[in-house]
Amino acid sequence: MKRRLLLIFIASILLFTGCSYIEHTKGADPNSDSIINETLTKDTDSVNKNTSPVPSKTNGVSPTDSSKDIENYEIKDADQDSVTIVKVHIIDVGQGDSILIQSDDHYMLIDAGERHKGELVINYLKSLGVKKLDYIIGTHPHSDHIGGLADVILSFDVDKIIMPNVVHTTKTFEDLLDAISDKSLKITKPIIGNEFSLGTASFVIISPNETDYDNLNNYSVGIKLTHGDNTFIFIGDAEVHSENEMLRNGIDLDADVLKLGHHGSTTSSSDSFLDAVTPDISIISAGEGNKYGHPHVETLQKHLDRDIKLFRTDKQGTIILDSDGKTITTNMIPYIITGVDLQFYKETANSYNDSDSSIINEDTISNDESEDSKNIIVHITRTGSKYHRAGCQHLKSDIEVTLQEALDKGLGPCKTCKPPTA
Ligand SMILES: [Zn+2]
Ligand SMILES: [Zn+2]
Repeated sequence: MKRRLLLIFIASILLFTGCSYIEHTKGADPNSDSIINETLTKDTDSVNKNTSPVPSKTNGVSPTDSSKDIENYEIKDADQDSVTIVKVHIIDVGQGDSILIQSDDHYMLIDAGERHKGELVINYLKSLGVKKLDYIIGTHPHSDHIGGLADVILSFDVDKIIMPNVVHTTKTFEDLLDAISDKSLKITKPIIGNEFSLGTASFVIISPNETDYDNLNNYSVGIKLTHGDNTFIFIGDAEVHSENEMLRNGIDLDADVLKLGHHGSTTSSSDSFLDAVTPDISIISAGEGNKYGHPHVETLQKHLDRDIKLFRTDKQGTIILDSDGKTITTNMIPYIITGVDLQFYKETANSYNDSDSSIINEDTISNDESEDSKNIIVHITRTGSKYHRAGCQHLKSDIEVTLQEALDKGLGPCKTCKPPTA
């Protein structure tokens, strides 16, 4: 009965918003895939640069299609099929992260944006009828992730809160700890491989893999969520260093959907990580016109190169993904990366400090060359004859050394990742 209510709810949302959900099936029958691609190609032509979050009626997905979706949902229900819908909401909180996962009437919230976004997140959850959160994950103590969490915790019943084992000396973080103790909650520390259930879905902890990092972002709690055949990875602000650890921890990273680390910065999304996850869909949560230049042009380019469908909260607002355990549908068409995007960010890229980046454009490489080779960190393997940038696909093992040390060992620059040479 509950399922029927949920389906009717989804159906009425579809009717109400007039949205047509777009299907994404990983490894689907090539014929049906090509139909989808055709639709999207047609969309490309008719959508202007300020991509509207809601597909217009002329973009190849007619209102008839959406009523067909609704029929399908109801047919599945009438057949007493065990289809349940898991919804993932990437809530637009400006520069920051906040993700709600809904499975039956169970809910998990990952982060809640900056402090002043707490109310927005609370209202969003209330509008969906959320009364209790089975889980809250505070990925790491930066304010654009945990800022809104104190107010959320004080507004809902919470079963479990998962946070990494690190403290931060900010008022925002202390207020979060106060809210946790006000509600007599105990913090659950993330342990790699630990599994939790959320309605018909489940998730496993994939990061952090160490206990001590220089950079708070690398403490980010990462999870892999599974619902039937559909899989999603969320990694907070985890950077290449943590991505490399995830690649080595033995958990299968292949997933349909990846919420990119660190708002699409070049400090995350290494080639080897993207190639291990091979997402069909990537999501960037960032604020429009943010001062960090997120997402970075290199990240956008990697998505173009790999033909990964990209969604961005800064351009498209709140993104909703529905998983029926086989197929993932979205409430809008993917963001279309234009030459304007790439040009704009190329022009501004040099003003952002991203010395950690795994892929750096030519201009930055020449800057590197003017630096002291004793200060430049490169990556080497145990036995290879080349040195690399962080995250290079050829790093079978990963040892950090200075460029000078690499040169002293007689190692040469990798031709794929083109690390600095002097
Ligand atoms: Zn962040
Ligand atoms: Zn952060």
